[in-house]
Amino acid sequence: MNTTKVTVVGLGPMGRAMAAAYLDAGYEVTVWNRSAGKDTELVARGAHRAADVAEAVTASPLVVLSLIDVEAMYGTLGEADLTGRVLANLSSDLPDKARAAARWAEERGAAYLTGGVNVPPAGIGQEGSSIFVSGPREVYEEHRPALDLLAATDYRGADPGYAQLYYQLNMILFWTAYTGWYQAVAVARANGLTASDILPYAGYTADTMRGFYTESAALVDADDHSGVDQRLAMCAASVEHVLHTAADSGVDTSILAAHAELYRRGVEAGYGAESSSRLIGLLAAEAA
Ligand code: NDP
Repeated sequence: MNTTKVTVVGLGPMGRAMAAAYLDAGYEVTVWNRSAGKDTELVARGAHRAADVAEAVTASPLVVLSLIDVEAMYGTLGEADLTGRVLANLSSDLPDKARAAARWAEERGAAYLTGGVNVPPAGIGQEGSSIFVSGPREVYEEHRPALDLLAATDYRGADPGYAQLYYQLNMILFWTAYTGWYQAVAVARANGLTASDILPYAGYTADTMRGFYTESAALVDADDHSGVDQRLAMCAASVEHVLHTAADSGVDTSILAAHAELYRRGVEAGYGAESSSRLIGLLAAEAA
């Protein structure tokens, strides 16, 4: 089997970066995209433009998909013969969507790997970049060199949902932090400050988060909420100050109000003297 042949289906910024990384590494690259015009630079660099998706799939043993989401794969691959192919779907989606996609591919005679890409397109092929991968271990091992070329793979097990689960867990941290940054900038601006003015302090806070996670993880896993350094009642008061500073500044408070409501419920539930990690139980109860 020629393992230096690869097909990339989906040429948004991410798929284009992936195809370019394969060209840089000397792979024979076949590309296909739903709408025309996105492969021009790649073709100029030597990529083969498949006439249709069926040709794209048969051109290489490994077919990397980079689509808006996992479900876009169904309509994209359509009736193409997938027998004997390995589909590495590096599109983001829900864990259960990845599991269903793996079943769909396997019913059509293909092996399926799920990927969750942890970097923007500029990070593809760069030192320090990573991709969560899950699916059958032997398929992963066989195609690991091709996937590592995009970003260092972090194999999360045979369950095809797990790469997406780990990815989404990271995204919970990412999006809440990024929205927090936008919220802080909105309050700063309402008070005559700029994003650049608060950047050094935002950087400091981001750096300290690792310490908070590290200190908290073992205690949370042991269900130990006795820590008195961050009493929930103190945290709830602080969160109220945040909410009211935003309100007094005349900015939207909907996110901070939901935040404050959670802390209030923790205090009302009688956890005021315990660690704020008690909130994890409240959040888990919401989901149950
Ligand atoms: P884009 O949305 O720019 O590109 C998506 C690709 O999916 C295009 O090829 C597009 O085709 C195709 N597509 C969109 N809708 C459909 C549909 N309904 N049916 C079939 N094909 C469709 O995304 P990116 O390239 O930025 O990202 C690709 C994947 O990588 C996403 O899952 C994203 O979450 C993930 N990712 C992206 C990151 C980033 O920073 N960009 C970072 C980490 C992960 P067409 O050109 O015809 O519209």
